[in-house]
Amino acid sequence: MSRYQCERCQMEIGFQGVCWKCSSREKRESYEQLTTDQLQLKLQTIIERIEEVEKWKEIYDDFNGLLAYHDINLAEVAEAALQKNIYYPGTLYRDATKVVQEEIISRLLQPDCPSQDASSMMLCLAASGGDRVVEVFAQLEKEPLPWQSNLYVGPAIYAQESSWGFNRSGQAVQLHYDTCFAMLPDGDGDAAAAAGRLRQDDYCSDCGCQMIDILRLDGRDDRFSFLNVTGVLAIPVCPNCCMMHETNYVRYDAYGNCTLMKQESSGEKNYVSAADLQAMDQMKLTLTATSLPKYYACGGDEVITIGGVPEWIQDAQFDSCPDCEERMTFFAAVPWSTLYDSAEGTLYIEHCPNCRTIGMHHQQT
Ligand SMILES: [Zn+2]
Ligand SMILES: [Zn+2]
Ligand SMILES: [Zn+2]
Repeated sequence: MSRYQCERCQMEIGFQGVCWKCSSREKRESYEQLTTDQLQLKLQTIIERIEEVEKWKEIYDDFNGLLAYHDINLAEVAEAALQKNIYYPGTLYRDATKVVQEEIISRLLQPDCPSQDASSMMLCLAASGGDRVVEVFAQLEKEPLPWQSNLYVGPAIYAQESSWGFNRSGQAVQLHYDTCFAMLPDGDGDAAAAAGRLRQDDYCSDCGCQMIDILRLDGRDDRFSFLNVTGVLAIPVCPNCCMMHETNYVRYDAYGNCTLMKQESSGEKNYVSAADLQAMDQMKLTLTATSLPKYYACGGDEVITIGGVPEWIQDAQFDSCPDCEERMTFFAAVPWSTLYDSAEGTLYIEHCPNCRTIGMHHQQT
């Protein structure tokens, strides 16, 4: 195979041009730089050509770009989508008006609603959220309609795709923070947050790989006040085993000191090289100075996000707290490609601020 270098970062790639990582970054930056007038123009184009959202091309990208990088109201998009019976992606309905929401609810509550449509409509309703949707989902959980027998999971699990759900007493709970920060590959770093730092003299007892702090966050920094973490949180993980284990749990104290809750040993082989570890340790990422739109992670550029709404690679997965057994709140997502080349997948980090526990799990395509 012929070898080329990315025209931006000089990384070796199999084609002439710009690597995937650099082009997603440029795409993000171009959306971030849109002026108010340009935004309005894009919004109008999306509304006029809403059918094309299903082609996964320009209109889909523009919608996602606006959703992720600009906190603008998208109620008109929801209206246009409903008129054309378009239910995917559910986030089209993020800002749906009460009228639009009621129309979808009335379609959904038809006993003969086709299961496929019902499934998509539940995702739309989950994205729009609010008391009325909570009420409808709770009712469907209690008294299922005929079409629900063709779906694998109930409405409460659909809610989780939009990062909310029901606790063990049946009350609606938000499973994410509305505040979001990112760690971006420019600037000089920021003392308040680092990712992928090596832990001195600490090796995984399972595979022998050197342990890392996947994140080090200074909870005393004002930007992190929404996380309710006091002290400096340094979250340990084996970068090799965490890609294979189900969920890793960590406990932290009032000062941020973390202890890994031991997994059963499974004798993993170590696939993370010394060069990968060095790359992670030296990677310079800078925490954004101000908070970002909460859907920042869904924009398509792989960056580390702290808070906000997670962009899942697979289905949404909110693990239960090992102490109180309630679902944990999404805390941060670390795409491994932000730390070293050739890495795939994302580590999702959740926590229970009440019990001071953390759960981490890996997803990839
Ligand atoms: Zn590149
Ligand atoms: Zn390991
Ligand atoms: Zn808990």
